[in-house]
Amino acid sequence: MSESLNLHLDPGPGALVYSIYEGLSPQKLDAVLVSHCHPDHYTDAEVLIEAMTHGMTQRRGVLVADKSVLSGSTACGPSISKYHQRMTEQTIEAVPGMKFHLSNINVSVTEAKHTDPDAVGFRFTTSEFGDFAYTSDTEYFQDIGTYYEGVRLLMLCVMRPTGKPWKGHMSTDDAIRIIEETHPERAVLTHLGMQMLLRGPEKEAKLIEERTGVVTTAGVDGMQISFGKAIGVGFHNKRKKHGLDMFL
Ligand SMILES: [Zn+2]
Ligand SMILES: [Zn+2]
Repeated sequence: MSESLNLHLDPGPGALVYSIYEGLSPQKLDAVLVSHCHPDHYTDAEVLIEAMTHGMTQRRGVLVADKSVLSGSTACGPSISKYHQRMTEQTIEAVPGMKFHLSNINVSVTEAKHTDPDAVGFRFTTSEFGDFAYTSDTEYFQDIGTYYEGVRLLMLCVMRPTGKPWKGHMSTDDAIRIIEETHPERAVLTHLGMQMLLRGPEKEAKLIEERTGVVTTAGVDGMQISFGKAIGVGFHNKRKKHGLDMFL
C-alpha cells in the first residue's frame, strides 16, 4: 500500500477474508499480481478482481501474471478465467526481464526456477526509497542473485529449514547464499512449510542473520512491514504517511 497504489501479490486461500480482517479494502486495489499457477498463490485472484472491478461493473485495475496463470501450459493453469481477465483495464503477461510500471512504482520481472516453468518473481523500484523484491517459489540457481542486487528489502519464499533441500524450492541454506550475494538491508522469510514451522522459523532467521550479518525476520500472518527511510516490522500499526506498507 502506498499513497498512489494498492496491490495484492499472490492472493492465496484466505486473501479476501484476511484483507478485510486487517481493515484493507479489496475494492481499493489497483493491481493483482500472481507469480505462478499454484493454488497457494492464486486461489483468491478472481475474487479480488471482482472487488477491484467493483463487482465486475467497471473495467478497473491491472492484472499481472505469468503465462500459465493466464493461458495455461503443459504444467498447469490457466488459473484465472477469461471472464475475469477481460474485466481489468490491463492484463500483463509477466516474463523474466520485462519491466513496466504500476503508478509510480517500476516493476521488473525476475526469474524463478520452480515446478511451474513460467513462474516469476517481482522487483519493485520506488523513486524515493529504493527497491524491494519477492522471489516467489524458486530453487537456488546461478545468477539468481543478479536479479536482486541492490534491493533494500528481500522477501524470500523459504519452504524448508537448513539441511532439508527440496527441488523447486528454497531452504534456509539457499536463502543464505542469495542473501550473501545480494546483501539487502533486511530479509523476510515467508511461504514457510511444515518442516520449517516445526523447526522454528525464528531460529532459522537467526541462523541466517548470524551467517550473513543481514537482519532477517521470519514472517508471521498479519505482520506489517513499513518501507520508507527505515524498514520497520510490526503488527496493526497505523499506515505511515510516507513510504509503503506491506501486510503478510
Ligand atoms: Zn509453487
Ligand atoms: Zn507456493
